[in-house]
Amino acid sequence: MNLAKFRRVRLAHLPTPLEPMPRLSAALGGPELWIKRDDCTGLSTGGNKTRKLEFLMAEAQHQGAEIVLTQGATQSNHARQTAAAAARLGMACHILLEDRTGYNHENYRFNGNVLLDHLHGATMEHRGTGLDMNAEMEAVAQKLRAQGRKAYAIPGGGSNPVGALGYVNCAFEMLGQFNDQGLAVDHIVTATGSSGTQAGLIVGLKATNAGIPLLGIGVRAPKPKQEENVLALATRTAALLGCPGVVGRADVVANTDYVGEGYGIPAASTLEAIEIFARTEGILLDPVYSAKAGAGLIDLIRRGQFKRGERVVFLHTGGQIGLTAYTHAFNVKS
Ligand SMILES: *Cc1c(COP(=O)(O)O)cnc(C)c1O
Repeated sequence: MNLAKFRRVRLAHLPTPLEPMPRLSAALGGPELWIKRDDCTGLSTGGNKTRKLEFLMAEAQHQGAEIVLTQGATQSNHARQTAAAAARLGMACHILLEDRTGYNHENYRFNGNVLLDHLHGATMEHRGTGLDMNAEMEAVAQKLRAQGRKAYAIPGGGSNPVGALGYVNCAFEMLGQFNDQGLAVDHIVTATGSSGTQAGLIVGLKATNAGIPLLGIGVRAPKPKQEENVLALATRTAALLGCPGVVGRADVVANTDYVGEGYGIPAASTLEAIEIFARTEGILLDPVYSAKAGAGLIDLIRRGQFKRGERVVFLHTGGQIGLTAYTHAFNVKS
């Protein structure tokens, strides 16, 4: 398998750092914790979508696109990174934003990722909840094509086999860092949403026979649905990469116990995770994804699923700019 045979534009600051978290490890009294800093991919405050966009935007360029479309929730990190990538490559960007949380707060509607979408020059339109957003986007793309525009549509989260190649690459990058530093890693833990991150990682880990289990912590769908989505995308990604069949059903594990009330709605454990990471390591998690994964990591250590003597790597997928959209969730006093 050979990633270099795929079209790619360089958008991310790579490799992202792999760092120890000694104070968080001590505070939890469990395994030795490390963090892979994909919040530091560099493009417009960083995050995991930038790795996917290196492959997706190269496809868009190759097809001669002058406008890219994508979709996501109001505070979509993926939409913001797509808007930035389009600006960088001289393409227009049009975003469909779904009101998935029902939040009406001023900061939720106009701050955080929405502010950055605007600054990058993206145009936006809105949808209510419960629609097939990829279908909505395709309809808009068709309308643009009928007007003679060359439009390239990127699915929600950039999660198709081309986008997932970005996380195959991340798996290779991490394994290189573990090998260089002589770090025997027992588990990798990350947030899982539209599935491209977990699917790409598991393909990379299995194709190299790394022997490191990956746990995805869900942010939206129930466990059976999440695992089904990840397995389906991993299967297609492995085929694209030329190593069909490397991922089996048992390799795909998601824990969806930390979603709380729903997508984009922080639970008490989400807010606790943000506070613990911020105060022990000076690291910011985001309220929609990485802090739900962080809450899972913390709880599974407290329950003894990850224990002393083990080494666990937490993949930080970014999204911190979203904190400024969630001031209502924090009891801020000056
Ligand atoms: C999109 C996103 C995720 C989830 O990644 P998927 O590839 O969609 O599963 C996790 N964290 C952050 C910050 C994200 O923006």
